[in-house]
Amino acid sequence: MHPSIDHLTRFCLELLGLTATMVGVVVLAVHYHFGGFAAPEARGSLVFCVLVLLGSALPLQLYAVARIMRLRTQNRRLFEFATRDGLTQVLNRTAFKKSAELAIARMGGLRSGDMPACTLLIIDADHFKRINDRLGHHTGDEALTAIADTLRRSVRQNDLVGRLGGEEFAILLRNAGYEEGRIVAERLRLAIHQLEVGPANRRVRLSVSLGGIAFRNPVAFNALYKLADANLYRAKATGRNRSTLTQLGSLDQTRAALAEAPRGEDAERPQRIAAV
Ligand code: GH3
Ligand code: MG
Ligand code: MG
Repeated sequence: MHPSIDHLTRFCLELLGLTATMVGVVVLAVHYHFGGFAAPEARGSLVFCVLVLLGSALPLQLYAVARIMRLRTQNRRLFEFATRDGLTQVLNRTAFKKSAELAIARMGGLRSGDMPACTLLIIDADHFKRINDRLGHHTGDEALTAIADTLRRSVRQNDLVGRLGGEEFAILLRNAGYEEGRIVAERLRLAIHQLEVGPANRRVRLSVSLGGIAFRNPVAFNALYKLADANLYRAKATGRNRSTLTQLGSLDQTRAALAEAPRGEDAERPQRIAAV
């Protein structure tokens, strides 16, 4: 059952319990007042009091339920507002990171045999500054929205898609190891390379570079980001409009990869890694 429906059901049951308690109090009061229910006046009064009580409680309860349902809708809207990127409507940086950390933590609860592989992809638009400079920020925004829509449409419903900032996006592919991750990354790259933005006479074709890391063990998000970002840097350095993925094996391999990864890349792009 959806948790909010569960909450509403519980609230209704609590209201019913409260009403039953009030009826109990009325029964006791009538019993006390008439010294029992033998007299017809006592029974008449009891029926009258209980009907008045139920009649006045019902509208109150309906009102409370209606208010709660409205608050729930407002809550859902606020949640969307707080977790979505305003321009592209994918998850914002904070929400993406939190959701990814949660998904990765869940991997830790599984037995090693059941552990599905996951892949973190970092996607960065190529030469995006040029698009802004040549065609204006409005076209830049149009490009970001088109890229985000394509990313969202090209992955499964339970994969996570977020905008980390500027022209950089991230995807957490669940149940997708290195091979599948590579196929998806290429599919995304090609799909985005189909996109064009700008006025009719000055259309510009978009492209992105992707860096990815496939992993089976629950590794800290920051470490995964660092490794995927190092691969993104390699994709940029080797010509852009391409994807570079690697995979992590055992925890020992993970440690070794982390020790190796940053060096040159960190020195050139410290703000990217430090910012997550
Ligand atoms: P590279 O291929 O190396 O990634 O080059 P690049 O030009 O894409 O990267 P760079 O970091 O030099 O420029 C990123 C640009 O993205 C600069 C910034 O103005 C632009 N940008 C960031 N956020 C937004 C946004 O929300 N809207 C628009 N229109 N532009 C943005
Ligand atoms: Mg870029
Ligand atoms: Mg960038």
